Amino acid sequence: MEHHIVAEMTEPGGSTLKEWHMVRTGQSMSMCGRDLDMNQSQLPSDAWGTEQARPFCHTCGALFLREVP
Ligand SMILES: [Zn+2]
Repeated sequence: MEHHIVAEMTEPGGSTLKEWHMVRTGQSMSMCGRDLDMNQSQLPSDAWGTEQARPFCHTCGALFLREVP
């Protein structure tokens, strides 16, 4: 399963980052169930755990850990 990281903003179309979520490639919903705007900033899944991908959604982080070998 491929994943990538998508930004959630504090408001739709806003420029203030709320947190990052993990998304399964091909889906438009984060692993924690949020409907995300796929036009927002994205990062490769290997950015997870780095300074670049903070703050990161705790639910997505936990689910991602269970899905990666
Ligand atoms: Zn999430």
